[in-house]
Amino acid sequence: MPSNPTSLTNAGPERAQALADLERLSLQWQRDDDVFMRLCRRMTTTPDLQELMAIFAEELASVVPFDRLTYQNTIDGQPVEIKIGQGGNHRCEYGLNLAGEHFGMLRIFRRMRFAEQEQTVIEQMLGTAIHSIRNACRYDAVRRASLTDVVTGIPNKRAFEDALGREASLGNRHGERCALILCDLDHFKSVNDRYGHLAGDQILRATALAIEDATRCTDTVYRIGGEEFGIILPHIGDKECALVADRIREAITRITLDSEGEPVRVTASAGFGIQSRGESADGWFKRTDEALYQAKSDGRDCTRQARPAQNTDIAFIDSNRRNRGD
Ligand code: GH3
Ligand code: MG
Ligand code: MG
Repeated sequence: MPSNPTSLTNAGPERAQALADLERLSLQWQRDDDVFMRLCRRMTTTPDLQELMAIFAEELASVVPFDRLTYQNTIDGQPVEIKIGQGGNHRCEYGLNLAGEHFGMLRIFRRMRFAEQEQTVIEQMLGTAIHSIRNACRYDAVRRASLTDVVTGIPNKRAFEDALGREASLGNRHGERCALILCDLDHFKSVNDRYGHLAGDQILRATALAIEDATRCTDTVYRIGGEEFGIILPHIGDKECALVADRIREAITRITLDSEGEPVRVTASAGFGIQSRGESADGWFKRTDEALYQAKSDGRDCTRQARPAQNTDIAFIDSNRRNRGD
């Protein structure tokens, strides 16, 4: 190591010595490949908690064999659970704390008891990893917040767009039919005007809950606009989807909110559409939105089905065929 960094700026033997020291330092960094160094380097390569745990498990397994590793935490009120490997009845358990903050529980399982020396290495490795784990937890909290609607606590428009795009590509790859329902509260502006914005917010929260109650746990509900909700429903056909849309609207009409002794009631209109083969997320959304618009112009408080997709809505299959040359 150069004893005095300023010697690097001077000419002569001192500078040559300093450069030689630096070269040795650099070679040593490249050569040193113990598990702690490697872990240190690799833990900085991703902010993703799942990927981070996979890296930790891989490096740990290279020095302390184990059968299963689990990580549990609650981030932004949501449970986080990561599991790598299987089995093992003996366990080491660590609460991950840094500067008085808790960043989850890590458990390592094995069929054979852990020796004291092994536990020491696990603890040292956790000591090396803990700052990266803390950063990943914070990143996860920010990521979740950016995908959550602040008024209702359900996923927001950005989460909806991600999910719809994902479902559209999955549908095109595997041919599974997925439905989209768009549901908009009727004359909601007058609810706000008459009962106030706070009462309006309460209705929005109650609507999110009512839609979640009226759908299956595999369906996902999003707030995609002021008083508009999107619901993505996998594995469903036209008839069943129409029933679900009506069930949702009915659940919304049952919401009762009392504003200074006066009951506040709302109705909703809905449009639904099943993705056509080869249809893009945009095309699918547009058709469904037109069905919602139709429900509004047909007098509101009703459900309308999207028109069948036109060839112009479907670009994916044709371009794929062209690419494959069939
Ligand atoms: P339509 O039946 O045509 O949908 O009529 P509408 O009044 O529901 O629709 P419009 O688009 O005219 O008004 C939407 C209203 O939703 C306007 C705004 O007052 C209300 N709104 C939007 N976001 C929020 C919110 O976060 N909280 C509350 N309380 N109201 C909101
Ligand atoms: Mg509305
Ligand atoms: Mg609207």
